[in-house]
Amino acid sequence: MGSGKVTSSEPFDWQGKHVTVAGLGVSGIPAAKVLHGLGARVTVVNDGDDARAREQAAELEALGITVRLGDGATLPEGTELIVTAPGWKPDKPLFEAARAAGLEIWGDVELAWRLRGPDAPPWLAVTGTNGKTTTVQMLAAILKAAGLRTAAVGNIGVSLLDAVLGDEEYDVLAVELSSYQLHWAPSLRAHSAAVLNLAPDHLDWHGSMEAYAADKGRIYEGNRVACVYNVADKATEDLVREADVEEGCRAIGFTLGTPGPSQLGVVEGILVDRAFVENRQENAQELAEVSDVNPPAPHNIANALAAAALARAFGVPAKAVRDGLRAFTPDAHRIALVGDFDGVAYIDDSKATNTHAAEASLAAYESIVWIAGGLAKGATFDELVTKSAKRLRGVVLIGADRALIREALARHAPEVPVVDLDRTDTGAMLAAVQEARRLATAGDTVLLAPACASMDMFANYNKRGDAFAEAVRELGADA
Ligand code: ADP
Repeated sequence: MGSGKVTSSEPFDWQGKHVTVAGLGVSGIPAAKVLHGLGARVTVVNDGDDARAREQAAELEALGITVRLGDGATLPEGTELIVTAPGWKPDKPLFEAARAAGLEIWGDVELAWRLRGPDAPPWLAVTGTNGKTTTVQMLAAILKAAGLRTAAVGNIGVSLLDAVLGDEEYDVLAVELSSYQLHWAPSLRAHSAAVLNLAPDHLDWHGSMEAYAADKGRIYEGNRVACVYNVADKATEDLVREADVEEGCRAIGFTLGTPGPSQLGVVEGILVDRAFVENRQENAQELAEVSDVNPPAPHNIANALAAAALARAFGVPAKAVRDGLRAFTPDAHRIALVGDFDGVAYIDDSKATNTHAAEASLAAYESIVWIAGGLAKGATFDELVTKSAKRLRGVVLIGADRALIREALARHAPEVPVVDLDRTDTGAMLAAVQEARRLATAGDTVLLAPACASMDMFANYNKRGDAFAEAVRELGADA
């Protein structure tokens, strides 16, 4: 029977271990079940105590798991290890007590990493403020095109625990990791990893930009083959420099410009590799054409290069990069064309929920009627508006924090016509699209890239995108 604290170096004997799982939810419930199945004595603690929590608690208690509702702050007596939902903030009293007692705290990713078997497939890992899901899906498509058994997993809907413990066999995993997950994954060691970009986000959780960057940077710790960084975003390169990696691991840059040695980049419409080729001082390998990337917007070409870099680090042939990129289709609400009439294209990028994402989206089109607004989450819009002003033919504002964007427009783009809808009801989207249509002329793009979260008006960004597409369809039908 195991006893004493769980420490990093210890081979695990879960039998009888006192494990406290923090948070009933998408990661907590499966973690509790798995640990219970391994013989641990599991207590789940949860702040909330509503009807749904009680239902979930009853299900776990029926298995023999202890559940404490309405108190996520007190450390249960005898705890030897904490396994937390990634979203729990590090400064919670529960964690302070755990640290004071010298206990380890693992997140869902750490748990999966520790529970993987001896022949477990290596992980190719991706993080960044924006572009994670797209890049991981592109990577999985490329690996599949090379004939490898793989899946896109992690912060993307498919749980790592399922991937690690399930019956399906994999050669390699394409893993999306959020900054929260990385914070709680101290011993994770990827084969290779990429940080796509770094812009302020989730700072209330991490406490500061430095802490946020440091958590993202953990993805490079112990990499064996390649640390992939964004040449245009120096902060990502700095993280590589600071990382403690295995001997021989290389720093590989990706750039939308001409690549130097040990970089992937773009030359005359071709994605090229000057990193994983013989004699990289003189040679370059053609991987794919820009037009193979769907959609071929600049930020998405960057995502494709990052995915290609990780795949090439894993030894995938050039042809598989092209085939994989051709096979890839983006998820809904990420620069999706949802209508095209009167010479105007209507693009749904509802997933652009922060200013960094919206900036990338706006940079992809020349002449734009921009639909923006929602919950700003503390963001400011001056930089976004300044950088995008010359592309704007008009702006339609919706949502709770639209005044912030209106004021930034007045400061930096006073000549651009703005329609302020002064509405936050769900039906406002049809009115917004009607206004956008009125402002647009042939050749323009009407772009929903709100730069804000959606929850003031919609259940989530999917619903916001659906409402936009529906409104466009309605208008298009009588065009
Ligand atoms: P994540 O998983 O990091 O949220 P997604 O791939 O779902 O990223 O893309 C989210 C949004 O971020 C997209 O709709 C697009 O507006 C923007 N985006 C995607 N890739 C990038 C990138 N490389 N740089 C900046 N913005 C991006």
